[in-house]
Amino acid sequence: MPEPFVHVGLPSRIVLGPGALDNVPNEVDLLKIAKVLLIATKSVRNEADLLELALQDRFAGRIDGVKQHVPAERAEAARAKAREVDATGIIAIGGGSAIGLAKAIALTSQLPIIAIPTTYAGSEMTPVWGETADGDKTTGTDLAVLPKTVVYDPLLSRRLPLDITAASVANALAHCVEATWTAKADPITEVTAVEGVRALREGLQAVLTMPTDLDARSNLLYGASLAGSALASAGTGIHHKLCHLLGGAYNLPHAETHAAVLPQVARHKAIGRAKQRLEAALKAEDLAAGLFDLFTEARVPTSLKELGLTEDQARDAADRFAAAHPEEDKKVITDILLRAWSGTRPEGGTR
Ligand code: NAD
Repeated sequence: MPEPFVHVGLPSRIVLGPGALDNVPNEVDLLKIAKVLLIATKSVRNEADLLELALQDRFAGRIDGVKQHVPAERAEAARAKAREVDATGIIAIGGGSAIGLAKAIALTSQLPIIAIPTTYAGSEMTPVWGETADGDKTTGTDLAVLPKTVVYDPLLSRRLPLDITAASVANALAHCVEATWTAKADPITEVTAVEGVRALREGLQAVLTMPTDLDARSNLLYGASLAGSALASAGTGIHHKLCHLLGGAYNLPHAETHAAVLPQVARHKAIGRAKQRLEAALKAEDLAAGLFDLFTEARVPTSLKELGLTEDQARDAADRFAAAHPEEDKKVITDILLRAWSGTRPEGGTR
């Protein structure tokens, strides 16, 4: 019998499969979008060109090239472009940065979004938006920014370089693992998160030997979708908050920071049935050590030192975090950050 719980499911339509990109014009019609503003990451420019042609007279305008963390001036320019072309809907094709820019437009215009993710960050499944001004990132939650339709086509991510793939998978694994211990965690989210870990682990290990394997890429997109959905319902906890602080204050790369911090947070936070289920999905004797070993196998940096942080900055981050979150034990935070800084393998399990 589960403990009493509340679970909120979010409305979105998911289409996954090789060649799913070809369905996008149909999806545009289903949402009755007459004029599309297309936002595309540079890396998938050719696919965006094909999509632009397939949209025919529904294509209204395009924004090429996006920046991480949605700089405010880019968000304003994108909103102006949407007004200029009279857009009635947005298609974002690319990683979390392209989807983030579409969300910035939807936040003020309520325009529907069709997201076509090519990385595993999971933003397409959440109603969370973010915008950065003067180095400060503001985030919020609004159902208006949740993409109405998500189209996952593994053909688009087949050539995602292995280093970006592995770091992005680490980011997705962090959504799953943390979703089991936040204040809003519930049994339905736990099942989603555990299945997400299984799909991500299988997919990652398979792409390490065969980067263009379509089954593996499908598995990764499926896992990323589950991870995003787990993040959307469980919200963020200590892990995401630490990564947010590290990214904002010391300009560390988003996905890689997750890989260095997650094993150390899992070492303290994962307990009980959820821990055992995550270990089974990861095929590891110990969750924290298993995550560390998987990231090492995938050559994702497992120390903040490798990302350019100094030991003094790690201590400074612990002070800042403890000041902002007095509810957390400062000794634990310091331990997490110093171990993440040096990249110390969590004890437990065998390699
Ligand atoms: P990203 O979108 O910047 O993409 C990472 C890199 O991958 C870029 O260099 C991009 O050009 C490249 N790339 C993308 N698709 C490619 C392809 N098919 N082939 C080759 N290269 C490709 O980064 P990301 O990790 O996807 O997303 C990170 C951003 O998303 C951050 O700003 C983060 O805050 C945000 N995010 C938001 C949420 C949310 O719920 N709102 C959730 C997760 C992440």
